[in-house]
Amino acid sequence: MSDEKSLNFIEERIENDLKSGKYNQLITRFPPEPNGYLHIGHAKAICLNFGLTQKYGGYTNLRFDDTNPVTEKTEYVNSQQEDIQWLGFQWKNELYASDYFDQLYTFAEKLIMDGLAYVDNSTAEEIATQKGTPTIPGTANIYRSRSVEENLSLFRDMKAGKFEDGFCTLRAKIDLASPNMLMRDPIIYRIKHAPHHRTGNKWCIYPMYDFAHGQSDGIEQITHSICTLEYVAHRELYDWFIEKLGIYPSKQYEFARLNLTYTVMSKRKLLQLVNENFVAGWDDPRMPTISGLRRRGYTPASIREFCERIGIAKRENLIELSLLEFCIREDLNKNAHRVMAVLDPIKLTIENYEEGKEEILIGENNPEADDKGGTREIPFSKELWIEAEDFMEVPAKKWFRLAPGAMVRLKHAFIVECIDYKKDENGKVTEVICRYLPNSKSGSDQSGVNVKGTIHWVSAKHAQEAEVRLYDRLFTVESPDAEEGDFKDYLNPESKSIIEKAYIEPYLATVESHKPYQFIRKGYFCVDKDSTAGKLVFNRTVGLKETWKPNPAK
Ligand code: ATP
Ligand code: MG
Repeated sequence: MSDEKSLNFIEERIENDLKSGKYNQLITRFPPEPNGYLHIGHAKAICLNFGLTQKYGGYTNLRFDDTNPVTEKTEYVNSQQEDIQWLGFQWKNELYASDYFDQLYTFAEKLIMDGLAYVDNSTAEEIATQKGTPTIPGTANIYRSRSVEENLSLFRDMKAGKFEDGFCTLRAKIDLASPNMLMRDPIIYRIKHAPHHRTGNKWCIYPMYDFAHGQSDGIEQITHSICTLEYVAHRELYDWFIEKLGIYPSKQYEFARLNLTYTVMSKRKLLQLVNENFVAGWDDPRMPTISGLRRRGYTPASIREFCERIGIAKRENLIELSLLEFCIREDLNKNAHRVMAVLDPIKLTIENYEEGKEEILIGENNPEADDKGGTREIPFSKELWIEAEDFMEVPAKKWFRLAPGAMVRLKHAFIVECIDYKKDENGKVTEVICRYLPNSKSGSDQSGVNVKGTIHWVSAKHAQEAEVRLYDRLFTVESPDAEEGDFKDYLNPESKSIIEKAYIEPYLATVESHKPYQFIRKGYFCVDKDSTAGKLVFNRTVGLKETWKPNPAK
C-alpha cells in the first residue's frame, strides 16, 4: 500500500490501523468554520485529509463547523466549497455541525442525567478564578452540587429562551484538580440569542467547540480526526466526551499548522485587512487566501505540490514564501505560453524598413512543452515598442542590449543595429533608431552575424494597450504576528503597483479563454477579472527568478 516515499507519522498510524483490522475503511473530514475565506494553511489541511483517503481508499466529509452563529455566513460556506473543489478535491457528504444540534442537545441531557454536567450561574470572571491555575487546583462552587432534576429543568429553561445571554452556562462535571485546565469543568453550552445562518431562530443556546467537534466526528464515524497542534490539550476532553456518551470512538491526531513568511494566516486577521480596506477583498491577489492565490494566477497543481513538499510535521515551523513561489514558477515554466509585452515602452524605429510594410512572423508558444504549445502569428512593422531599460546611451560593461552602435536580435524577428536615438527636453530617451539586417530573420538567418542579446518588442501599429498590476509581499517582516504592536503596522506600502499602459501582442486580444502567460523576460502573468472587452488587465503571478531582498530600511 505504501509508495517509495517515506511515510509521515499520520500515514504510518493509518497503515498500522488498516493492517491490524482496527478499521476497514478510512474516513476523514475537513471541518472549516464558515467565518471567512480559506487560506493556504487550510489548503494544507485539505490536501492532507483528502489526500489520505485518495491514497488509502475510504472518503472525506466536508463538515462546516458552524457552532458560532455570530461570525458565520452563507457567503463563506459557498466560497469554501468552491475553493476545495478548485483545489481538485471532492467530498463525499456535505455536513454541518448545526445538523447535529438536536443530537448534541440530547447528548447534553444525557450527561446531566448521568450526573456529569451542571448548570452554573457564575460569571465568566468567577469561573476563571474558581478554576485555579495549572499548579493550584480549582474550587467547587455551590452550583456544582445541584441535583439532576434542577439541572435538567434549568437546562430546558436555557433552551426555551427564559434567560439572557450570559445568565448561566452548562458545564461538564469532570475534575477541578486536573493538571489539564481544559478538564476543569469546561463550559459545553452557552446562551446566545442570535440567529444562525442555517437554523435561524430555532436555538438560543449553542454548543462549544469541544462539545461539538468530537461528537460530530463520532456521529460520522470519522476514523482519523486530524487537526492542528493547538488541539493537543483538547484530546483528553475529546476522548472523555466520547467515552461518557458511548459513541463511535473517533481518534484525534495533531500536526503542525502551516506558517508562511511575510503573511498572516488567520481568518480573523485577514477579515480585518478586508474590512479596513488594506486590500481590495478576500480575493485580492496579495492575500494568502485560496481565492487570492487563484486570482494571482496560482494553479491548483502548484498549491498541491507546495503542500506535498512541506510535508507533515509535529513541531511548529515557518515556511518560506519563496518555496510557494518556486512551486508556481516551476508549474508555469512548463505550462505557460510565452508572449511579448512591453511594460515601460519607448519607440524603436527601423530606418531601412519600408514605410507601411507589415509582415507576419511565427512564434512558438512554449519551447518547454512537448508539442511546443503550438504557434501564433506576430505582426512586424517599421515602428516597434521596446522596453526603456533595453537601451543605454552609455553602455555598461558587458552590455549586450541596445546602445549606440550595438546590435541585438529582436525575438522571433531580425537583428537590428542602433544608429541613433532621440531624447525629450528632460533628457529621457524617447526613441531608438535602428537599421535591420533583412537576411537575419529568425529561423532562416543568413546574415552570419552573431549577437549576444535578444530583446522583446511589440509592433506599435498592432499593439494593444493593457493594464499590468505588479505585486510584492504584503508585509515587510517575516512574522508580522510575532512583532510588537499591531500586525497591520507591518504592511508593505509598496505591495501593489500599477502600470496603466503597457503594450501587448495583438494575439492576446483575440484569445477566447486565457491561460497563464510568460511575458518574455518579465515574469508570469494571468488575466484579471477586471479586464474589459477593450482593455485586458494582467496580474503578475511571480517573477522569472527569485529577486526579492528584504528592505534594509525596515
Ligand atoms: P483561522 O484562525 O485561520 O480561522 P482555524 O483553525 O480557526 O483557522 P478552521 O476553519 O477552524 O480555521 O480550520 C479548518 C481546518 O483547517 C482545521 O482542521 C484546522 O486545523 C485547519 N487549519 C487552519 N489553519 C491551518 C494552518 N495554518 N495550517 C494547517 N491547517 C490549518
Ligand atoms: Mg477555528
